[in-house]
Amino acid sequence: MNDERQTVVIARILLPAGRERLAERFDLREGGLDATRADLLEMVPGASALVADPSMPVDSDVLDAAGASLKVVANFAVGYDNVDLDACRERGVIVTNTPDVLTEATAELAIALTFAAARRMSDAERDLRAGQWHGWDPAAYRGIEIRGSTVGVVGLGRIGTQFARLAHGLGAKIVYTSRLPKPETEGELGARRMELRELLETSDVVSIHVPSTPETLRLIGEAELELIGEEGVLVNTSRGPIVDSVAVAAALEHGTLGAAGLDVYENEPEVPARLLEAPRAVLLPHIGSATVRSRDGMASAVADNVIAVLEAREPPSRVA
Ligand code: NAP
Repeated sequence: MNDERQTVVIARILLPAGRERLAERFDLREGGLDATRADLLEMVPGASALVADPSMPVDSDVLDAAGASLKVVANFAVGYDNVDLDACRERGVIVTNTPDVLTEATAELAIALTFAAARRMSDAERDLRAGQWHGWDPAAYRGIEIRGSTVGVVGLGRIGTQFARLAHGLGAKIVYTSRLPKPETEGELGARRMELRELLETSDVVSIHVPSTPETLRLIGEAELELIGEEGVLVNTSRGPIVDSVAVAAALEHGTLGAAGLDVYENEPEVPARLLEAPRAVLLPHIGSATVRSRDGMASAVADNVIAVLEAREPPSRVA
């Protein structure tokens, strides 16, 4: 009977690859792309499942507004720094994410940002579009090549490892940081593990792949940028709070950092004005997982997780 169907709240939107399977089984309440926190607090009472995404914090107020009916918060992302895991655990609410399906897309975007920043593509294209290209100039827009460079991977997890494979395939030497050694990847890629400071000093390109946690907050600030140096390239496709983006803007202005390729920012969708004005910066609007295959895979994974929990089975990707 219709009135026995459980309710799934989709904080913003879920792509059809996941939404249609949920709509067959449950009543849906959907906030839409412009949904605010106030909209979420209004929609969520009585829900059995909440589909969130990185732009929608899920904290104790949201959980309390949902009430005792809530069984699962299914995040439409692999990162889950927007979800208060302890508050979910305290209330017996399961939390799930969408790993693996976005690994390739995000690793490829990190490679794209590496090339774009290393070759000054944003500045070059901006000048061309502004009518500021006055002819071939042997001294202009000189960057670095990936072949023969040292690429430092901060966080050799799923995405970091795939990024390292791609960079290795392009002829880079791989160094990495992680809390635990990764002997298999060391064997496969000849990768060498080192402390962050040594990695920053050693690498021509530094790419960030750790999750956003209290330990990784502002992992890269002014002092770390100085170690990357005036020829070095910083790439961040992980989460904004890991990198101090105003310090990145200052380092680019002062010429103490070679270039930066960023996909994520501390207070999205805000981007610091100083960063927008900085030279040698390639800035993307959080599109790491934005391929058709990856986003459909993520939507489908969200549906798998919600359906499993609401049918009293273990979800495929539980994080709490
Ligand atoms: P993952 O497999 O969990 O990899 C993260 C790695 O970071 C782990 O292997 C872990 O290795 C390491 N790590 C964790 N905490 C650390 C710490 N405090 N210090 C140093 N290393 C630490 O996750 P993933 O699937 O690769 O995703 C990584 C992140 O990418 C996500 O959390 C998300 O924020 C971001 N992401 C962004 C986009 C985008 O659109 N831009 C798309 C997808 C993912 P050890 O345990 O060995 O230290």
